[in-house]
Amino acid sequence: MVRLAIVVPCYNEEEALPETVRQLEELIKDLIKRECIASDSFVLYVDDGSRDETWKTIVKFNKEKDYVQGLKLAGNVGHQNALLAGLMSVKEEIDAAISIDADLQDDIAVIEEMVKKYKEGCDIVYGVRSERKTDTFFKRFTAQGFYTLMKYLGAKSVYNHADYRLMSRRAIEGLSQFKERNLFLRGIVPTIGYRSDCVYYARKERMAGESKYPLKKMLAFAFDGITSFSIKPMNFIMGVGVLMIFIAIAVAIYALHSYVTGNVVRGWTTIIWSLWFIGGILMFSLGLVGQYIGKIYIEVKERPRYIIEERILNDK
Ligand code: UDP
Ligand code: MG
Repeated sequence: MVRLAIVVPCYNEEEALPETVRQLEELIKDLIKRECIASDSFVLYVDDGSRDETWKTIVKFNKEKDYVQGLKLAGNVGHQNALLAGLMSVKEEIDAAISIDADLQDDIAVIEEMVKKYKEGCDIVYGVRSERKTDTFFKRFTAQGFYTLMKYLGAKSVYNHADYRLMSRRAIEGLSQFKERNLFLRGIVPTIGYRSDCVYYARKERMAGESKYPLKKMLAFAFDGITSFSIKPMNFIMGVGVLMIFIAIAVAIYALHSYVTGNVVRGWTTIIWSLWFIGGILMFSLGLVGQYIGKIYIEVKERPRYIIEERILNDK
């Protein structure tokens, strides 16, 4: 039987929590009754240094209700780190864990399907939004632009998947080998490997309280995601440098031609040519230095070079 933990990061979520606790409890009870998950499955609420009564609420529900566990972080470390903290603290006790936001914008009805896919042998099951009707045009537009850009820059990520996913115990063990500080789970999880699959659902509106991701945080998050996954922007700079050197050559020919035909001010030829040439060399050098920095950056991350799935020994 699958011992499941549902990990819920909570930052100032006192308004949303009572309903979340109620719905998740109902779901867990139902899944246990139908023998889909083990009876010692539970929900872990991670208080990410909230400034409101979130922790008190968690403690209260822990006393009153079944299946409620709590983890309090000493300060606010952000959604991604709070999630990681939750996963790491349960990984020894469970078979699989599902992460979900406290506002239940993601449909909990597909949890059963996630568990089913886990039983069929998937180590990672992504919750994917099949539509974004409830999001504003702006949010939809920026989010989709972001996924496309990520893909273009070569970072692995699952389109329209946020942090609603099931991970098996060994996938979480794999995740624990990624030591980086700039944590962008959506990018890291697909690089772990193992068999994975998706389940689809329609995203709902936040049921209480307000978004903890205002535009500023959202942009910072996107920028963080890209810069912690891709060194392509540096290749781009180098490319621009090369292009400028070629332009310099063209300019040189043009300037020389103008010089010979004689319709130029004295000194223009040298100045215009040097401008492009020096600019090109500088840009190229910058990109080159960037390549080394890119290497350093990859090295300091100390990401695991491989994760072993299985080894079979002589067996005769
Ligand atoms: N969250 C967190 N720490 C933070 C910010 C947010 O743990 O510093 C949690 C928050 O409580 C919620 C989840 O991260 O469970 C996602 O936040 P939110 O729903 O506000 O983001 P949105 O859905 O608007 O992108
Ligand atoms: Mg939300």
